[in-house]
Amino acid sequence: RAKENGRNSYQFYTEGMQDREVRRLELDKDLATALEQDQFVLHLQPQLDLNTMEVNSAEALIRWQHPQRGLIPPFEFIPLAEESGRITDIGRWVVMAACRQLAAWRDGPLSRMKIAINLSGRELDNEDLVDHIQRALTLFQVDASRLEVELTEEIFIQNIERNRNQLKRLHDLGVLLAIDDFGVGYSSLAYLRDFPVDLLKIDRSFITNITECPDDAIITRAVTNLAHNLGVKVVAEGVETEEQLEFLKNLNCDVVQGYLISRPVEATQLEILLRDNPRFVMASNP
Ligand code: C2E
Ligand code: MG
Ligand code: MG
Ligand code: MG
Repeated sequence: RAKENGRNSYQFYTEGMQDREVRRLELDKDLATALEQDQFVLHLQPQLDLNTMEVNSAEALIRWQHPQRGLIPPFEFIPLAEESGRITDIGRWVVMAACRQLAAWRDGPLSRMKIAINLSGRELDNEDLVDHIQRALTLFQVDASRLEVELTEEIFIQNIERNRNQLKRLHDLGVLLAIDDFGVGYSSLAYLRDFPVDLLKIDRSFITNITECPDDAIITRAVTNLAHNLGVKVVAEGVETEEQLEFLKNLNCDVVQGYLISRPVEATQLEILLRDNPRFVMASNP
């Protein structure tokens, strides 16, 4: 059957690839004007603290509201922006947007919320990044401890000296640093020793089967204990069921994030969710 259809499947795949390439090129072109036309939006995904059962932080995940194509997820344009260098300006926008949101919450019931932003290696190439973050915090009068920065592994294995210096400056400001997607890739323990890390986010791939797969549970337990002994808090990514949440509670995991609590949503939706859902104790309640 494969032989029979060989020719057609081949054509199907090349057409698919061409379509994708065309879409890629068009998106890349449209990215040039996306910032000035204000087409990016940050969605926020709440993180539940298992010690207090409070939501007092949220991860900011960027989406591109494309005028013709609708909402585009980050995996479709972040890599393009990294190649073209536009990621620098996009990252600066993310920093400003997160600080603006924190400022908007400052005097209300969400005054104790933190926001975690994602930064890729290419963004740390920008020598001005730390200054930019400091300017944004000052401009919006936001306390640095309200901001978290999530970093993926490339930051710890490329340009190590420079990145360590950048991250130290950021940490000295009071910004919290998190290692994202821990457990995939090299996951070297040296990151925990050589960089000022506050949080470790265990990758979703370890959480998905944690209640059935003993190996995933053993790894998560060991990483959690190790992190705790080093004074690092543990966040579990991709929690989708109550069983996973209970399991992670028993492992002494600190924070859970995932569709069980909420998908990433617009800020106004998050505000409604936190106000209306009795499950969440408001962070500012006495
Ligand atoms: P990430 O930082 O590891 O973010 C977690 C991803 O998992 C998000 O995908 C989130 O929507 C998704 N997720 C959360 N909970 C669940 C769950 O329970 N189940 C499943 N299946 N998925 C879940 P998203 O929003 O598509 O973001 C993908 C990646 O794009 C992020 O991975 C991050 O690396 C990158 N990214 C997002 N926003 C930014 C940004 O502002 N700047 C940069 N440089 N990268 C960003
Ligand atoms: Mg992240
Ligand atoms: Mg992650
Ligand atoms: Mg990821």
